[in-house]
Order: sequence, then C-alpha cells, then structure tokens
Amino acid sequence: MAKEIRKIGVIGAGQMGHGIALVCAVAGFDVRMLDLTTEALDKGMKSIHRYLQRDVEKKRLDQAKADAALKRLSTSTSYPDLKDCDLVIEAASEDEKIKKEIIKKLCPVLGPDAYIATNTSSLSITRMGAVSDRPGKFVGMHFMNPVPRMELVELIRGIATDEETYRLIRELTVKLGKTPVNAEDFPAFIVNRILLPMLNEAVYTLYEGVGSVEAIDTAMKLGTHHPMGPFELADFIGLDVCLAVMQVLHEGLSDSKYRPCPLLVKYVEAGWLGKKTGRGFYDYSGPKPVPTR
Ligand code: NAD
Repeated sequence: MAKEIRKIGVIGAGQMGHGIALVCAVAGFDVRMLDLTTEALDKGMKSIHRYLQRDVEKKRLDQAKADAALKRLSTSTSYPDLKDCDLVIEAASEDEKIKKEIIKKLCPVLGPDAYIATNTSSLSITRMGAVSDRPGKFVGMHFMNPVPRMELVELIRGIATDEETYRLIRELTVKLGKTPVNAEDFPAFIVNRILLPMLNEAVYTLYEGVGSVEAIDTAMKLGTHHPMGPFELADFIGLDVCLAVMQVLHEGLSDSKYRPCPLLVKYVEAGWLGKKTGRGFYDYSGPKPVPTR
C-alpha cells in the first residue's frame, strides 16, 4: 500500500527549493526546508514571504490561506529533522557529487517507507537512485522556474523506480496544481534537452560576434515571440545551472553539438552566475538590467 504523503522535506532553499517548499505548503502539506546555513534558509523564507504577499495583494490567495501556509513551513540545517517526512524533494545545487552525498546522508534518517524525489535538471535518476537505500522509491520530479508560476513538472522514472512510487508522485503533482509530463531517464529529459542547446547557441552567437546581448535578446523576443530573450532567460536560470546541464548533455550523449560555449564557461569561472549573483549577461546592480557585452 502506498504511504500517504503528509509531510514533505525539501533540501536546498535556493530559487527552486524555496519555490517547491512554498507550493507544497500552499497545497496543504507540512513542509520542512533544509539548507547548509541559516543565511540560505532566511533568504529562501524572505522570498516565500514576498511571493505570498504579492499573491494576497493580487487576490490570487486570501490572507488566511497565506498565513496557514506559513504556519506549515519550518526550516532546519540538520538532517535528523527530516526523519518524519513521507517524501523528501532534493533541490540542492546541480552537482552529482553534492546530490549523491545528500542522498547518502538522508537515507539513514528517513523511515523505510519514505520516498525521495530529485529536482535535478539533467542528471541520471537511475544513478542517483542507486546510491540510495531505496531505488524503488526514488524518482525524478523536475519543477520549472519560477515554481509557483510554472504549470509543468517532468516526472522521470529511474530503471528501478516502482510503478506505485511513480503513480503516487504523479497524484501529488496534480494536488500541487501542476501538470505532470512523463520523460525518460536520458540526459536533461525533455525541456532542457531542447531549451539549453538553444541558450548555448545564443552564447555562441554572441561569442562569434553575430550580435550583441541586446540585439540577440530583442531578435528572439520579437522574431519568435519568446517572452524572454535567451540571455535574460539564462541569467534567470543561473549560468552555473546552464553550464552544468550542457556538460551533462555533452558527456552523456557524446556528441560535439552539445559542447558548452567557452564564453559561458568563462562567465561561470568569473562567478558571474546571472541574476542570483547580480551579474551575468546583464548587470543587475542598477534600477534596470544593463547588458555586460
Ligand atoms: P540555487 O543555486 O539557487 O540553490 C541551490 C541551494 O542548494 C543553495 O541554497 C545551496 O546552499 C544549497 N545546497 C548546496 N549544497 C547543499 C547541501 N549539501 N545540502 C543542502 N543544501 C545545499 O540553485 P537552483 O536554481 O535552486 O537549483 C537547484 C536544483 O534545481 C538544481 O538541481 C537545478 O538543476 C534544479 N533546477 C533549476 C532550475 C532553474 O531554472 N534554476 C529549474 C529546474 C530545476
């Protein structure tokens, strides 16, 4: 019998983790969010407060529901605090080593019936499930950014994921107000397999001098009706995440067409990771983002 999900743990309080925690709390689940430091947790909680406040102002949510969601949310830096979770969603940095270490630390504190999902953008669900003590209860649950606004969640089975786990997580996705789409366990799944090579190509287009940041973003917005230009979107996703996904595609599919653009590598090496660090293809220090090239 599938375990009923009441309490959800979320590992990582970054842009995805705190968004997932928020959506779960609004949907009526008790949520505990964990990160390495209280500073990271405070930053995530501040953003959750801002989202809820905006939703109340715009009448998308009433005040009582927002208050109730906040009451259901708690934070921690200690794994044993996740022991009574029925499901833990891992949403830490896109680095296989970090994620595997998290899974190894998490498993011993969880009850034997608890499920684990990972929000990885690109990494193998099978490989990560294999380092857990419960590959049958391990699944990919890939939310989109910003989580409260985006309707899609890609669901990915590892080779060992039980059908019952998949069904339960699919039902949960619907309860969270999202639309699940099945993707197979191949590098970067569906959305990022298609989106990230386009963003990488935009960086090559800049690198080769075909156009400036502003010209390329304007061309793609007006020429293809994309709501954001590729550089606005890459900065929003985080250039470290973009590079990590391209590396997984390049290595995982062994095809040179996925080679990360050297300019993208340079930006990440400089610590210019986009909006979250205040500088990427745009500089966010002023009232309006200014192209850095
Ligand atoms: P982020 O950099 O905003 O946040 C990552 C968080 O993980 C940070 O708060 C960091 O302190 C925390 N962290 C790092 N190591 C940790 C550890 N050992 N234990 C606990 N916490 C740890 O990154 P993000 O954009 O939120 O991405 C998180 C995950 O979501 C990645 O796997 C990413 O690929 C995926 N994702 C990102 C996007 C996007 O658009 N950014 C979209 C979908 C999925």
